[in-house]
Amino acid sequence: MFGFIKKSLNKTAEAIKSVAPKKKITFTKDEIEDILLEADVEYDLVEIIMEQTYQEKITREILRSKLLATLAYTEYKEPEYTAPFVELIVGVNGAGKTTTISKLAQRYKNEGKKVMLGAGDTFRAAAIEQLTLWAKRLDIPIISSKQGHDPSAVAYDTIDSAKSKGYDHVIIDTAGRLHTQTNLANELKKINRICDKAHSGAPHRTLLIIDGTQGNSAINQAKAFNEMVGIDGIIITKLDGTAKGGSIFSIAYALELPILYVGTGEQPDDLTPFDKYEFVDGLLD
Ligand code: GDP
Repeated sequence: MFGFIKKSLNKTAEAIKSVAPKKKITFTKDEIEDILLEADVEYDLVEIIMEQTYQEKITREILRSKLLATLAYTEYKEPEYTAPFVELIVGVNGAGKTTTISKLAQRYKNEGKKVMLGAGDTFRAAAIEQLTLWAKRLDIPIISSKQGHDPSAVAYDTIDSAKSKGYDHVIIDTAGRLHTQTNLANELKKINRICDKAHSGAPHRTLLIIDGTQGNSAINQAKAFNEMVGIDGIIITKLDGTAKGGSIFSIAYALELPILYVGTGEQPDDLTPFDKYEFVDGLLD
């Protein structure tokens, strides 16, 4: 079975198997509805799927294609890699931004890349401290400033330093909340502009971190971020130990954005690339 399902989505897979054991080949509409709800697919999406179900006897293959169809937008096309590749990380506080930045940094480092971090959440002293601790632990350089300083300056300095020292990859943290949403939108837009000034074309991608256990509220927050800055891809965190695997379907369907990775724990290695075929087959097989 797909490793991350075994590790994190076992409860979801078991829930599906309890209503759709492998030897069962066809299902009624009611059974399909039960399967989807057991998998924690949001009720609204279950309704949409059922409205589009015209057959009376639904086979396992049709169920598989329906689940894959809700993930239609999840595929991701890598942008061209121009070193230093600059990645901006956004998301509400508590979603798992800092932890995910560390996981990404570890991953790129393992790929042999020279990675530098920028502590751009200057609104929270704790965010700067926490990211600095991770950077030390992973032996990765970090550019930071004091709480309250301009995050755009941090972004500029990080990119500038990465350029002059020949680094491959820059990951910049950002604030998850300011006094108002307008402030946050303006701050993120300014960071974008300054990144481009520091290195034409940067940021090369903006990733949104979403807490996979938060359901609809995470979806609404994600839409707001997408309007503010434009998101290239998402990472869904905290899918370990929960039966909330179905939230992947709801998030992907509602946002129409690619899912790049899934977070399955609190350690640097707990990040798995997302593959919709492996995911659906892991749940159904
Ligand atoms: P931030 O405020 O967005 O920077 O969030 P943090 O990175 O500080 O994460 C908030 C909490 O969620 C911390 O306790 C993390 O250890 C935890 N966390 C982050 N990602 C995951 C994950 O994939 N699984 C689990 N179980 N916990 C996570």
